[in-house]
Amino acid sequence: IFISFEGPDGAGKTSVLKAVNQALSEQLGEDQVLLTREPGGDRIAEQIRDVLFDDQNTNMDPRTEALLFAAARRQHVVEDIEPALRAGKVVLSDRYVDSSVAYQGGGRHLGIDDIWELNEFAIHDLLPELTVYLDVPSEVGLKRIAQHRSDQVNRLDREKLAFHRRVRQAFLTLAKRHPHRIVVVDADVDLATVIQEVKQLIHSRFPS
Ligand code: C5P
Ligand code: MG
Repeated sequence: IFISFEGPDGAGKTSVLKAVNQALSEQLGEDQVLLTREPGGDRIAEQIRDVLFDDQNTNMDPRTEALLFAAARRQHVVEDIEPALRAGKVVLSDRYVDSSVAYQGGGRHLGIDDIWELNEFAIHDLLPELTVYLDVPSEVGLKRIAQHRSDQVNRLDREKLAFHRRVRQAFLTLAKRHPHRIVVVDADVDLATVIQEVKQLIHSRFPS
């Protein structure tokens, strides 16, 4: 079972993932669950990640950025996700293809359809059975980041409100296009409530 977690910055994705991972690991055994994040995973994907996040790469062209995210994703699929799925594990991925469509397609104006096509080449039909999209208004997300994450700023964390609004709109467009795969969860409530709702969602989609 492959489940991806998506959301704008400040949606609480990382905290929700941690809780879901813990619950599933207790239920199924730790070796039955793979928690992984994008861009990253194996050595090559981590190297691409370093290029993407390097603060000195302020001159990176948006199309280069989109290609690098797609390249890192490909490597992550082949080296981490597919082997885990073949071994029968539950794979929880912190971001996947929808993030590219939202950030590079929406945020960077490259277009939802073009970035989707680029990523179809990269993922070669491997879509999650379920995508949990944690939705928050952009103002709320940005406020949460400013309060909790001033320590972790990188090149891609410096975007302004208008960028984040485009990202959110693209996520919502994707959710409309893929209503069975993508489930929108209201993340503009307290964390415990979000975690509860996501656990119930996963349980109802994949009983036992
Ligand atoms: O998942 P996390 O919030 O840690 O994402 C790291 C950074 O990468 C964020 O600032 C996000 O805006 C950015 N990102 C991006 N394009 C993607 C995926 C993530 O700009 N396709
Ligand atoms: Mg972030």
